[in-house]
Amino acid sequence: VAERLGAIAKQDITVSRFGGDEFMIFFDRVEDESHLTSQLDEIFAGLQGEVDVAGHGLRIQASGGAVLSRVKDTDVDAMIVKADLALYKAKELGKNSWRLFEASMDAAFRNRQLMKADLRTAVEGKSLRVVYQPIVAMSTMRIASCEALCRWDHPDLGPISPSIFIPLAEEMGIISEISTFVLQAACAECAKWPDQTSVSVNLSAKDFRSRDVIQKVRDALAGTGLAASRLEIEVTETALLDDKSLTRQYIEELKQLGVRIALDDFGTGYSSLSYLHKLPLDKIKIDRSFLMDVTQNPRSLELLKGIVNLSRPLGLSVTVEGVETFEQLKILALQVKPDLVQGFLFGSALSASGIETMSNTVWPFAKDIRTAKKAVRR
Ligand code: C2E
Ligand code: CA
Ligand code: CA
Repeated sequence: VAERLGAIAKQDITVSRFGGDEFMIFFDRVEDESHLTSQLDEIFAGLQGEVDVAGHGLRIQASGGAVLSRVKDTDVDAMIVKADLALYKAKELGKNSWRLFEASMDAAFRNRQLMKADLRTAVEGKSLRVVYQPIVAMSTMRIASCEALCRWDHPDLGPISPSIFIPLAEEMGIISEISTFVLQAACAECAKWPDQTSVSVNLSAKDFRSRDVIQKVRDALAGTGLAASRLEIEVTETALLDDKSLTRQYIEELKQLGVRIALDDFGTGYSSLSYLHKLPLDKIKIDRSFLMDVTQNPRSLELLKGIVNLSRPLGLSVTVEGVETFEQLKILALQVKPDLVQGFLFGSALSASGIETMSNTVWPFAKDIRTAKKAVRR
């Protein structure tokens, strides 16, 4: 890469290596934005394709951030920060391209920094909460288990979605503190629920980077006295992709403790069927995107049926997520036949005591489904 970039260096273009795999190009003289654009487009075109490394053709991907400044306002340090923000945005929008810095990136960056500081305070002060969403057994229409979901109520901004603060925590390196907190809380609450009710906890791919994850789970069980068989850990494919052999080993060890393992959001990532075969999983949770259009789209229905039929012989149980309407539930009951269902039809997440109260509830759909089944038989 250095050789290729070096070729464009001349009197008013300085090319340097910034560190690691980062390079910096300084254009001393730029006419206007379109002049810069054409120069950068040309450089990026030159980086496409394979790079020969000691006889091996390696495919590279490059992303870039650029910032334009008038000579009289030039502050190189500030320019580097801005170029970096633009680079960050370019990566976020898909690799292999470059972006020019805009003032809004600065504002977004400042907001993110503020939010990170507040999140750190919330995690340290243990002001996060855990709520529990019912997971209902198809055969009985009663709560079989609950998924622990983390909540953050920001003092000024109100509730922040976990799909925002969990990735922030991962980026900040404090996700494992959140995992510990949720594990502890979920095991302590579940220990108070009737024996037939289990609990599921989401762990991050980052948790599986270290073997501490095993001790963490062991501590949560020992500290609360919860039977390991009542705890399920949800992992996503990203966790499995990160480092196949070690993650696999950690999952095996968790299983040896007696904990069950579910593969979350199945169907959103690579959905490699080889995971189902190779990893010691107990369950897969099919992402709600499959269910969303199931009442209109026969392909989604076939996919759902296919995944269930494939999983059963492998000894995996199946949860379908995102059940919002009775119509969807009926299709599931009559055609897809998963083991468990979860979704707003049965309620969104509740406090732990709410779950205790509901643990013996039998949803009235049970009767409606029996009626629907009879109608089909007739
Ligand atoms: P997830 O693990 O797939 O959790 C299910 C999400 O779907 C929850 O969103 C839940 O409220 C939502 N949901 C449930 N039923 C329905 C439905 O019928 N329709 C729709 N539209 N949505 C439904 P939530 O609580 O906002 O969490 C979002 C994601 O954040 C979770 O997705 C999970 O990936 C992550 N997350 C939440 N809590 C934790 C945690 O404690 N640790 C980690 N690592 N991740 C967490
Ligand atoms: Ca989950
Ligand atoms: Ca999910």
